[in-house]
Order: sequence, then structure tokens, then C-alpha cells
Amino acid sequence: MLNIVLFGPPGAGKGTQSERLIDKYGLVHLSTGDIFRSNIKRETELGVLAKSFMNKGQLVPDSVTIDLLRAEVLKHDEPKGFIFDGFPRTNAQAQALDEFLSSIHTSITVMLSLEVDEDELKKRLLNRAGVSGRADDADPDIIDNRIAVYNKETAPVKSFYEKQDKLIAIAGMGSVDEITERLFVSINAI
Ligand code: AMP
Repeated sequence: MLNIVLFGPPGAGKGTQSERLIDKYGLVHLSTGDIFRSNIKRETELGVLAKSFMNKGQLVPDSVTIDLLRAEVLKHDEPKGFIFDGFPRTNAQAQALDEFLSSIHTSITVMLSLEVDEDELKKRLLNRAGVSGRADDADPDIIDNRIAVYNKETAPVKSFYEKQDKLIAIAGMGSVDEITERLFVSINAI
């Protein structure tokens, strides 16, 4: 299986690039943010809980997110592989993902980390707000909090995969097509 963690701060382009990678490599796209948003729309119990964290730019607790991720992976019969988009976001999630994948006899192949300047991220998120309708994209204070949470809790996950020799940094500045091409080149070299 080809299991990719597509990593990067909010606004790095993980969702956009994931769509292109699933098309090319036939992978399953698993975005915890998308799953939470779908639960919010359907007003499920999970949605109500997730919304209370997402609207402040905080992370949904690990226990909830890890259980959700495991259940989503198990929904797929004989997948070619997964793109994990927005997961793992903490070292505890990364550890749990490793243990879970090992229990189903697979593992993470690579972490592709999109590197984008902070000023550019803020611009992209505010621009995206008009299209996405996401409350957490529209408010500069929430954006600042999401970036702060990323720097404090999520960025360290890179070292987790670096220690396993699985981290590849990808320049995330430039056009969407240019970034896609860089991702293709890295994946094809695996
Ligand atoms: P995203 O769509 O990946 O930008 O995620 C939007 C929001 O959903 C985040 O700001 C978090 O509140 C929540 N979220 C998504 N994925 C996770 C995760 N792996 N762990 C905790 N919270 C998450």
C-alpha cells in the first residue's frame, strides 16, 4: 500500500493537492477536517462536539479524533492506500496511527510536508473564506490561533517521521500546478 501523510499548516494546500494525488494514484482521501465538517452539517453528536473546538481554532481532542480515523480506515476494503490530510496533528495521533496501521499489517510510506510562509498562509485562508464558507477561515483571530496551534502542537509531528526517515519537505509556494508536480516527482521516486 502507498500511505501518504500530506502535512502542512492551515492554508498550505493539503486539500487541493490531495484531490490531485488521489486521481493519479488511486488512493483514498481521508481528511479529518472534512469528516468533522460533514458531521457538523448533519448535526450529529460528534459534529456538535467538534464544532466547539473548531470554531475557536483549537484541536478536537486526540481520543475522539483517533477513534474516528481508525473507523474511517476500516470502512475501505482492500484500498491501494490512503492520503491522510490533516491527520496526524499531534505526536499522540502519530503514535496511535503507527500502532493502528501496524495492527492491520501496513504502515506510513512517506510524509510529504508542504512548506509555506506564514504571511502567504494568512492571505490564502482569508481568500479561501469567500469560497469555503468556513467560519474558521473568515476570522483573523481564529486564523492566528490555528497557526499558533500548528506551530506548537502539530509541527513537532515532522520530527516523528524524520526519525523514521520518512519526511520529505516540499516547497509549497508557487502555483497549484507547480506544487502538484513537485509532489508527483517525490512520490514517483519512492
Ligand atoms: P482542516 O480542515 O484540516 O483545516 O481542519 C479544520 C479543523 O478541524 C481544525 O482546526 C481542528 O479544529 C479540527 N481537526 C481536523 N483534523 C484534526 C486532527 N487530526 N486533530 C484535531 N483536530 C482536528
